[in-house]
Amino acid sequence: MRVLERYHTRFVRAGAALDKDAQGKLAAINERLAMLGTQFGQNVLADEKSFALILDEADLAGLPDFAKANAKAAAEERGHKGKYAITLARSSVESFLQFSSRRDLREKMMTAWLARGESGGKTDNRALVAEMIKLRTERAQLSGFKSFADYRLDDQMAKTPQAARQLLEEVWGRARARAGREKNELQKLIAEEGGNFALASHDWRYYAEKLRKARYDLDEASVKPYLALDNMIAAAFDTATRLFGLKFKPVDVPLYHPDARAWEVTDRDGNDVGLFIGDYFARTSKHSGAWMTSLRDQEKLRGNIRPIILNVCNFSKPAAGEPALLSFEDARTLFHEFGHGLHGLLSNVTYPLLAGTAVPSDFVELPSQLYEHWLETPEILTKYARHYKSGEPMPQVLLDKVLKTRTFNQGFATVEYTACALVDLDFHAREKADAPDVIALERESLDRIQMPAEIAMRHRIPHFQHLFSGGGYAAAYYSYMWSEVLDADAFAAFKETGDHFDPATAKKLRDFIYSAGNLRDPAEAYKAFRGRLPTVDALLKKRGLAGEAA
Ligand SMILES: [Zn+2]
Repeated sequence: MRVLERYHTRFVRAGAALDKDAQGKLAAINERLAMLGTQFGQNVLADEKSFALILDEADLAGLPDFAKANAKAAAEERGHKGKYAITLARSSVESFLQFSSRRDLREKMMTAWLARGESGGKTDNRALVAEMIKLRTERAQLSGFKSFADYRLDDQMAKTPQAARQLLEEVWGRARARAGREKNELQKLIAEEGGNFALASHDWRYYAEKLRKARYDLDEASVKPYLALDNMIAAAFDTATRLFGLKFKPVDVPLYHPDARAWEVTDRDGNDVGLFIGDYFARTSKHSGAWMTSLRDQEKLRGNIRPIILNVCNFSKPAAGEPALLSFEDARTLFHEFGHGLHGLLSNVTYPLLAGTAVPSDFVELPSQLYEHWLETPEILTKYARHYKSGEPMPQVLLDKVLKTRTFNQGFATVEYTACALVDLDFHAREKADAPDVIALERESLDRIQMPAEIAMRHRIPHFQHLFSGGGYAAAYYSYMWSEVLDADAFAAFKETGDHFDPATAKKLRDFIYSAGNLRDPAEAYKAFRGRLPTVDALLKKRGLAGEAA
């Protein structure tokens, strides 16, 4: 039934139920949207390429060595040998805003960064966005929905824009309150330094970094010796052993690169679960980032086919004979991707259409984000976060710092993200199929939610690639927070039992989430695991926002 229902839904959403005339219209709209989406992305790229702030050594006050080195390389690439270039790539501009003590230059960078896609010239995206919004609304209405957001969310876990909006609004008020207090702390810091100006958006990252240093003084270099790659792999495996009874045995099979390693995965009774391949080190031929993928998916339609699952990361490769050491963020990434990996490995369905990670996009990050929580449990950390030479566990003071920095500056981070998700919904929930004035609509949206003036949207509309370059996250930018609500609430199910590895909870987690693929509607699957739908409480605690008034 589920397979039939999935195929039916796909066909209907693609226009199979429409008459010939409407199908023709739909095809024309889709074609035009694809063209506009490509153009949008190219315009953003062109704006990012055409701008660079070229600086001399004397202008680099405050920048750490790694940022200087990157700026030097970027200048060379642009034909300015011996100079330094700050570009509009996120990593370049963000570290400049975070570390540069030159307020005038920070303002220049911030202004250019926020203006991408709004240059007024050939690469201006405003008219493109207006047309895309109009066409998306038309497309949704052809299929019988009120708005594009209604159409898009109908086949997600959230189901309706109202459900997504309600979740965001529960977080928004608290995030704003917290950001207000963070702002006051930063303003105080400015006064203490003798500054006589009001905190602006180009100041926030700089003063937040100063405050973070003063409070936590966390030196990455002192953490890394406790996070050896092989120990962290063992930690991720052990977590799966404790939760699901899985066993991992290294196997010598021919692989595509000497850095890749393989493990045979079996269950409690020694049955074959699948093959897991880990490819952890960066190399020039590899795409950046980290991801899970499969070489073969689980199914039972053509026999008992077990999956071959791959985790790919980009950790720095150590010199020969040295151990690979990770940052805490790297270790978190390893757990995250391994969570996706288990979603593929434990899959236990008949039809390939429903296997493993083939679930709605606002549900697919649950198994991965949830898995990150076990890295932070004392059971795993004290056993595996040990110095690679002495074998000593990580000192408690260091551990506390690592875990506490997590809630620092969360007012800012939550506001910067949530504003984008709310504006996204405002753009895509329009029921009038016309081309809006996009800048006026963005402003109107931000005024309505009372966006703090000192914080800019993480992505402004004219360069919001998630929404308009392709459109994978159009009306769905809320998904990141939706998934975070799920993972925080799901982990709370273990905490409530007093056992991070509670066997009964683990069994339900395996039966209804990790092994269930797309067998059930995600909301039903979650209810079967948790006994109820998720609430935002655990997320607010995790982000340190629980004490704020809504
Ligand atoms: Zn993920």
